Amino acid sequence: MKSKPRIAIIGAGLGGTAGAALLAKAGFDVKLYEQAPAFARIGAGIHLGPNVMKIMRRIGIEDELNRMGSHPDFWYSRHWQTGDELAAIPLGDYALSHYGASYLTVHRGDFHAMMTAALPPGLLAFNKKLTEVKDLGDVVKLHFTDGTTEECDIVIGADGVNSKLRDALLGPELPKYSGYVGHRAVFPTPIDSGPLPYDMCVKWWSDDRHMMVYYVTEKRDEIYYVTGVPEAEWDMTKSWVPSSQEEMREAFDGWHPTVQSLINGTKEISKWPLLERDPLPLWSRGRIVLLGDACHPMKPHMAQGAAMAIEDAAMLVRCFQEVGAENHTLAFKLYEKNRTERASRVQKVSHDNTWLRTNENPDWCFGYDVFNVPLIQP
Ligand code: FAD
Repeated sequence: MKSKPRIAIIGAGLGGTAGAALLAKAGFDVKLYEQAPAFARIGAGIHLGPNVMKIMRRIGIEDELNRMGSHPDFWYSRHWQTGDELAAIPLGDYALSHYGASYLTVHRGDFHAMMTAALPPGLLAFNKKLTEVKDLGDVVKLHFTDGTTEECDIVIGADGVNSKLRDALLGPELPKYSGYVGHRAVFPTPIDSGPLPYDMCVKWWSDDRHMMVYYVTEKRDEIYYVTGVPEAEWDMTKSWVPSSQEEMREAFDGWHPTVQSLINGTKEISKWPLLERDPLPLWSRGRIVLLGDACHPMKPHMAQGAAMAIEDAAMLVRCFQEVGAENHTLAFKLYEKNRTERASRVQKVSHDNTWLRTNENPDWCFGYDVFNVPLIQP
């Protein structure tokens, strides 16, 4: 191997892009390969907790994000029918002083675009769909659908829930459909909010379904909802399908008038399957290592799925810095040792869908600082 190992990341989603930005900043030789021809601003929002914002600080986009996003004062939980408050978890100024970084809600596409813009020119290659990976022991060969091949010393699989790299390590296996779908819609904030003013960030709960709602801009002119609704079957050949106001009215029949106002204000709605996998027996072998949804896809009910992918990326870079990327076997061991427990805990709580339904202390999640948490040795 050369003195500076060549690191390839497959998948420029939120985890892969964060990893590439951090590796480049730390002086590693990194390339990022993405199957899509370009990125679009799909209708979805995302929470960026203090645990993620500390990583964005390192990437250099914390201030810009703070200017762009909404800073919810509380995470409210409300009763589906009465609107009664079930929980109020302080965020806003409290998050800043208590955790040392903001809690934001933003448009996922805007966030992704900002991280992508932080990459050095030439690092990201679009239209590069990986078809095969061959770990030859001293080098890894990557094959893409456009007929090209690339060589690298380490390959990071950040290629999402249907990861090719996961297949290479463990054999092909579809993720599990959880029996739940998520409807997603971003739209201009409706003027009439019904009997309750819109909270900046709220989750409406019944026993078998929920709707999470928050602004995605600092100006609060765009609002987003994402649901969790039981649906017995999903056609696994489809990653999402269109939905409609009619379908939403049926799914949320009898819910609070403020929820109905949101549904009435919706323009386009998409419906996504919520997919999971059991914890994997390994996250790496040879020169291949996984991160994010490639190794621990989860229901999005803690709003921490992307956060876990980004934290994974940051921890992997920290481990490369700690022991040297040329010692990749040791670096991967250290990485797994320091990530599996936390990722599995978040996966479990997300599966159970209990997070912040009642007043609980979220410090273990929001207070995590990937750069300063003491490293556990393998
Ligand atoms: P992805 O973001 O899926 O990125 C994988 C990338 O790899 C993609 O760009 C893909 O095109 C590329 N790729 C795939 N295969 C190949 C290949 N063969 N060759 C090259 N490139 C390839 N998380 C949160 O933190 N907060 C939320 O509020 C939230 N809400 C959600 C709502 C819903 C309805 C759903 C379904 C998920 C939600 N999540 C949320 C979860 C979050 O979207 C994922 O956990 C996160 O995107 C995982 O990031 P990743 O980088 O691992 O994978």
